[in-house]
Amino acid sequence: MSEPFEIVRHPTARRIRLSLDPASGVARLVVPKRAALKPALAWAQGKADWIAAQRARLPQPRPYLPGMVLTVADVPLTIVWEPGSRRRVEVFGETLSLSGPIETLPRRVEAWLKRRALDLLTAETAEYAAKADVTVSKVAIGDARGRWGSCAHNGTIRYSWRLILAPGHVRRATVAHEVAHRVHMNHAPAFHALVERLYGCDPTPARAWLRTHGAALHWVGRSL
Ligand SMILES: [Zn+2]
Repeated sequence: MSEPFEIVRHPTARRIRLSLDPASGVARLVVPKRAALKPALAWAQGKADWIAAQRARLPQPRPYLPGMVLTVADVPLTIVWEPGSRRRVEVFGETLSLSGPIETLPRRVEAWLKRRALDLLTAETAEYAAKADVTVSKVAIGDARGRWGSCAHNGTIRYSWRLILAPGHVRRATVAHEVAHRVHMNHAPAFHALVERLYGCDPTPARAWLRTHGAALHWVGRSL
């Protein structure tokens, strides 16, 4: 079977490159702008064993199912579903309880996670913004594969909702990072000093956690 590739024509790439995105599991073939596609594809097809080996090391999909344990802001919650008409998702102790149609369980669990993420990230952003004496016009969430947060010139900060699945110290370090961009739109030493002051300690371990474990967060809620 031939491998499906996401083909990217890159304006400045000097050579053909093959990689596997650990967040999506998609094989990406980067082809220089003027290179012929056919030999590039043939070359990539020959790398099937390499792709298979890389793929075997990827995180496993973790679909939302009854019995699944989700760690939400450091609290392990087991999804418990029972037949009934109640559609609301509720937390009882260490269970995430819901009924309603089982077919819509995944969608409702994810919607609940996104709401929790937005609430918590909004509160933490306000806390750090007050500490930094800056304003944040809007906090939003998204599901970008490559970045955990971004700060726009208009004062909007956008986070990946999946930070709610990361340890709290990792989430807070990301918030401190984005809020500090309201003061410094760069990664100069003064920026890093401000991040550390807001966060209260060195954020390096939190960034390292995201590099090592971040991709796995993108496999949460994915069907098998
Ligand atoms: Zn940054």
